Amino acid sequence: MEERYLFSEIEPKWQTNWEDQKVYAVEDKHDKPKYYALEMFPYPSGNLHMGHVRNYSIGDVVARFKSMQGYNVLHPMGWDAFGLPAENAAIKHKVPPAKWTFENIDNMRSQLKRLGISYDWDREVATCHPDYYKWTQWLFLQLYKKGLAYKKKAGVNWCPGCATVLANEQVVNGACERCDSEVQKQDLEQWFYKITDYADRLLNDMEKLNGWPDKVKTMQENWIGRSEGVEITFRLEGREDQITVFTTRPDTIFGVSYMVFAPEHPLVTDLIKGTEYEEKVNAFLKKVQQQNEITRTSSETEKEGLFIGAYAINPMNGAEVPILVANYVLMGYGTGAVMGVPAHDQRDFEFAKKYSLPIHVVIQPEGQTIVANAMTEAFTEEGLLINSGNFDGINNKTALGKIAEYMEEKSIGQRKVNFRLRDWLISRQRYWGAPIPIIYCDKCGVVPVPDKDLPVQLPLNVEFRPEGTSPLKELEEFYKVPCPECGAEARRETDTMDTFVDSSWYFLRYTDPHNTTGAWSKENADYWMNVDQYIGGVEHAILHLLYSRFFMKVFYDLDLVKMDEPFANLLTQGMVLKDGTKMSKSKGNVVSPEEIIEKYGADTARLFILFAAPPERDLEWSDQGVEGSFRFLNRVWRLVYAFIEEVEGSTGSINLEGLTKEDKEIRRITHHTIKKVTEDISTRFNFNTAISTIMEMVNALYHYKDKVSKNEFNKEVVAEAISNLVILSAPFAPHIADELWQAIGNKESVHIQQWPEFDATAVVEDEVTIVVQINGKVKDKLQIPASFTKEEMEKFVFEQERIQSLLEEKEVLKVIGVPKKLVNIVVK
Ligand SMILES: [Zn+2]
Ligand SMILES: [Zn+2]
Repeated sequence: MEERYLFSEIEPKWQTNWEDQKVYAVEDKHDKPKYYALEMFPYPSGNLHMGHVRNYSIGDVVARFKSMQGYNVLHPMGWDAFGLPAENAAIKHKVPPAKWTFENIDNMRSQLKRLGISYDWDREVATCHPDYYKWTQWLFLQLYKKGLAYKKKAGVNWCPGCATVLANEQVVNGACERCDSEVQKQDLEQWFYKITDYADRLLNDMEKLNGWPDKVKTMQENWIGRSEGVEITFRLEGREDQITVFTTRPDTIFGVSYMVFAPEHPLVTDLIKGTEYEEKVNAFLKKVQQQNEITRTSSETEKEGLFIGAYAINPMNGAEVPILVANYVLMGYGTGAVMGVPAHDQRDFEFAKKYSLPIHVVIQPEGQTIVANAMTEAFTEEGLLINSGNFDGINNKTALGKIAEYMEEKSIGQRKVNFRLRDWLISRQRYWGAPIPIIYCDKCGVVPVPDKDLPVQLPLNVEFRPEGTSPLKELEEFYKVPCPECGAEARRETDTMDTFVDSSWYFLRYTDPHNTTGAWSKENADYWMNVDQYIGGVEHAILHLLYSRFFMKVFYDLDLVKMDEPFANLLTQGMVLKDGTKMSKSKGNVVSPEEIIEKYGADTARLFILFAAPPERDLEWSDQGVEGSFRFLNRVWRLVYAFIEEVEGSTGSINLEGLTKEDKEIRRITHHTIKKVTEDISTRFNFNTAISTIMEMVNALYHYKDKVSKNEFNKEVVAEAISNLVILSAPFAPHIADELWQAIGNKESVHIQQWPEFDATAVVEDEVTIVVQINGKVKDKLQIPASFTKEEMEKFVFEQERIQSLLEEKEVLKVIGVPKKLVNIVVK
């Protein structure tokens, strides 16, 4: 009777069966409660790695669990398919990017199917497919019409290796994140999305994100970087010009001892013209131009400055302060000028010391005197103002508001909120991306491509040059087009969009993937959104999530959706490590999912990954752990087959009166396991503890099998335990679960069964063991009814002869009772 656990036969069989029976096909049943479970879609690099397996296994447990709980579950998968690697492969191997990409997708899709993830493949999307990027382009035009997409000349990070512009966050220590080339600065006409218009909302709406990890919210908050301050106007000595600086510390205004301009500040050339400083300053400017912005503002870069022979006038006290240029001030941020207060800012302090600039103390702790010459670092604590005219003696926190108010009254300054967030640069001078749907006409100017002409298709027969410039720039049949407005010869935009644009709305396309008349229908989006559980790596904590939130708010304003946040709950899963470090080809510590599936099957791989660590923690790969998971599944297999006669002979109704102590214990464990697994999945995603509870249940059933003779098995109790064991295992190990479910006589898939509910009365233990201590030392262990109150328990303990004799001639001072656990008697 007993068969062997042949995963290599079982798994493909069930995968085919699920597909044929459309077990995971989801309908847009708008009257049913919905649940949207989403894992971040992958870049189709060619092969799944263990990080993917982890991400999707976690999502699959959530999706299967919610589905068995009766929700209409949307659990889709697709491909973030545009981007540079396809182009690099095209140059290297002379394969067209489309071919390379779609072959990789085919391969990864079949790998995903071998993992048995419950995706509705009918909803698959690929961002590089014209059916998809048509709508990426259409959305661009909606933003353009709203003034949220605009073009400007901008100093950009140019990677000569990739021949494209990089976002600031793609530059690491002054080098390209992808190819390590040193990043240069270039001025180019570029398209931007105006995310800065949404800075306040992106920040304020974070209070809606209760289901997000705090660390991710903090990262977003810092990235948006809101600061309140005052923009102060300074006159320039001997000139008509005025300049403004932004500061969050107007309380230190009397302590300004120098001013720093960005080298690119338009006044600099003017101020040095014909002076003795001209030559030296120009040489300095040239030098700074060779440093990119990232290097210039990095805390590790040496701050360098130079006096330019000009002075500004402090509007509060008329003091003349010298003006310098320095590498760390950028024209693109704030006003391109900052005031230096070395006594109360550490960076300014170091700079002032280096260039022997004066230091004016204007805040000091109550009852103490700070001497500027004796300072070894800036004083940045709270204190009272000194040397600050009418504001002397006021606490500096209070002075912040008072000075700002005074400045506004005297028209010296104005309160302002500043953000660190910059607009989103979306232009890429690359081929493999969604073309920006814009045409330039000499007569009409910038003309959006009319909706009827979408998509602007990427030509497929293109030649790639090793130097990496986009072939679109040289392909006349692509860029030479008639103007849609006047018909004159015009030029098509040859830039394509940043791939982050594609991935900032894909979750909406899944709600209506085959729509040919719109990006999605409002009806479907309103039913499915927002995503109930989003799961992915923490490396996307800033950009992807911020851009998606921005898009969702724009779509809300355009009345395309009724929600203004895309992801209700976020889980950032940890990495998969081997020998303590992240798996990577260069370290040679990669374990491929294929080889594990080949050797042990997908269920073992999934079970190991879910059992080895809680989802948000890093997971250390362990070959023994994989072996252990495989052995456990074999143990489950043998157990189910050992009881198969009992399950088949059961009627499905339990006579509670006739249960033995052993039967009751099995029932208690069965219902305790249902309770624990349900709680662990639904509240904290503690899959590891859920699985270990299932393991304990299996142990208990083996124990029952060995202890009770076969003719005394309670068929009904055994049947209840075994079918629940199979159901509870289904989200973790779906193939073996369906096979065993069928083996115990069921026709329908286990994955469409109702998730069990526990019987509260069965969970109650009849008896518990408590410990009796005297002065903290264990003296006895007693079996007591589990229903005893604290008082009943204590009374019971004092009635025991053994305890009474131990207490003879002693005075009882205190009794400490912990129900169901212990009684400690304190005596003298
Ligand atoms: Zn590069
Ligand atoms: Zn025209």
